[in-house]
Amino acid sequence: MTSIDIHHHFYPTSKDNEGRRWSVEMTLDELDRNGITAAIGSLPPVRCTGSDDGCSQARRWNEWATRICLDHPGRLGVFASLPLRDVDAALAEFAYAYDVLHADGIGLPTNDGDTWLSDERFLPLYEEMNRRKAVVFFHPYSTARCLDLGHAYGGDLISPAWLEFPTNTGRTILGLLATGVTRQFKDIRFIFCHGGGIMPALLGRIAGFEGWDTVGPDTLERTFPGGVHAAFARLYFDCAQAYAPEMFALLRRIAPASHLLFGSDYSYFPVAHSVRQLNELGLAEGVHAAVAGGNAAALFPRFDPGSQGKIRSGGNT
Ligand SMILES: [Zn+2]
Repeated sequence: MTSIDIHHHFYPTSKDNEGRRWSVEMTLDELDRNGITAAIGSLPPVRCTGSDDGCSQARRWNEWATRICLDHPGRLGVFASLPLRDVDAALAEFAYAYDVLHADGIGLPTNDGDTWLSDERFLPLYEEMNRRKAVVFFHPYSTARCLDLGHAYGGDLISPAWLEFPTNTGRTILGLLATGVTRQFKDIRFIFCHGGGIMPALLGRIAGFEGWDTVGPDTLERTFPGGVHAAFARLYFDCAQAYAPEMFALLRRIAPASHLLFGSDYSYFPVAHSVRQLNELGLAEGVHAAVAGGNAAALFPRFDPGSQGKIRSGGNT
């Protein structure tokens, strides 16, 4: 069985963002010990600061990640980073990542500071990603305001990853649905982390506003032609931190099984943690195989052992 971890972090240093040791060998060892065929890594988001620092940082990281993928064919892939502060630079890096580096997709943050990825300044980027039929992986990040709120709720006891990350993911999904980006750019495969954050819990609430005279069915139909549930069901979801039975059952109700993808969020979590949680769901064999890797192999054919582009090393599956 092919198993693909599409939510896996790579670091061009010997430590991750929280100071744990990290190396390519540790990633491969995690994959081997858990029978995972391949992992597609995402890099930290990159900011263009006005100088060319952000741009050269994105280029350096993308080239470094591509090198480790080439060193381990069939085991590692990459979602390339883009310097979002300068959309022209982001377009240039996207072209380089696809044409020269042959990246598996693009990794975007849900927000660049207080600018959300549904902002209209990113439209040229979505237009080009649509033309190239790109796969885009959205990962949540904190804003300074989020961190302040975390402290207000409970000081250091409350991680931004508990509430602010899923909320930021929900903000970005809702923005992209409501502004028509996901409708207009149908050839982009949009993947959202952590089962879509808070968004699955909100769909029914939004649809129910047809009964409220201030919004009403006309506004809803204009914003989500065909319904908000249908718009949501076109997206793909990495299930890292979304394997809790109640969350996964909700995802199964509102998203096609073919759009659910295995992710571990290594190095924040051991790969074994997500493997165990997925196994404990007791899914039917076909659904389990699809979530574990079949669905991802359809999105990333070079990791499909049956495809012509097969370059995987054999792995441990
Ligand atoms: Zn992550």
